[in-house]
Amino acid sequence: AGAELEGKPKRFHALMMFTKVDKSLSLQQKFQTAMRSMVKHGRFLEDEILVLHYVSDLGSQEFGEKMLPELLLDASFQYEVVFHNVDTLTEKLFPIVEAMQKHFSAGSGAYYSDAIFFLSVAMHRIMPAELKRIVQLDLDLKFRSNIRDLFQEFNHFPSDAVIGIAREMQPVYRHTFWQYRKENPKSRVGDPPPDGLPGFNSGVMLLNLDSMRRSTVYNQLLEPERVARLADKYHFRGHLGDQDFFTMIGMEHTELFYPLTCGWNRQLCTWWRDHGYGDVFQLYYHCDGPVHIHHGNCNTPIPDD
Ligand code: UDP
Ligand code: MN
Repeated sequence: AGAELEGKPKRFHALMMFTKVDKSLSLQQKFQTAMRSMVKHGRFLEDEILVLHYVSDLGSQEFGEKMLPELLLDASFQYEVVFHNVDTLTEKLFPIVEAMQKHFSAGSGAYYSDAIFFLSVAMHRIMPAELKRIVQLDLDLKFRSNIRDLFQEFNHFPSDAVIGIAREMQPVYRHTFWQYRKENPKSRVGDPPPDGLPGFNSGVMLLNLDSMRRSTVYNQLLEPERVARLADKYHFRGHLGDQDFFTMIGMEHTELFYPLTCGWNRQLCTWWRDHGYGDVFQLYYHCDGPVHIHHGNCNTPIPDD
């Protein structure tokens, strides 16, 4: 009777790619910063559990298992840790994403091992049906707010939205869509905010797996012919995996994406400022409002608060 009275605990699922971490001091430091800041600001209710999913190779899993008890020691909330083997997930993923890899991967071929960079795209087909929502996070993040508040953003999704994601904060897609923009000078594709479509950054993503499973539109966009047709239309050739795919389909179907404010993924990389886009850079990089998560992308140091 006790269990019935208490009710089921509510689980909040967060997933991180966690490979080659045992071999990289830089990734280990990012991991520590992400976890310590998540713990420092994390607050949950008594019957809630934060479930941390790591997609790992064996060496990284071993490293994570050794480090996590200490990193999570001061957590004021309940948590669970789940490791997913990267090879097992890749095997399930490859047949679904193989065809899109050539459009959105570095190099010419579609390497089997690159399939994992598209995990978010087909997460709804890979994870068990009981898993209804999941947040995917990079390791090079530093939290300044409660991660529970990020999960609350799911509740603001309009009915057609399946993924919550922040905009890309460099003019990288202005560059990628160069030819399309030349042929369509009135298009908003690749233009800066607030009126343009600057594309997305995949460092922080809210995946409503239930909605992704149910959305006919989204699942049709995964079909190889549809991807090929859109890549052709936009002359799209990228190398950033899932974020390229979401950016490209987002130009056609803005309704599938719930825009997170820039403060939930405040990217710090400035590479494109010094590579031909200095004149327009600030239009993209600018971010007003509170910063909840700093993202030290392209190995950019994150300032102390
Ligand atoms: N990652 C990983 N092992 C690697 C490289 C990357 O697990 O060897 C994961 C990690 O979670 C990282 C994410 O992939 O945060 C994306 O890479 P990164 O953040 O370096 O890309 P950026 O944000 O700079 O584009
Ligand atoms: Mn990153």
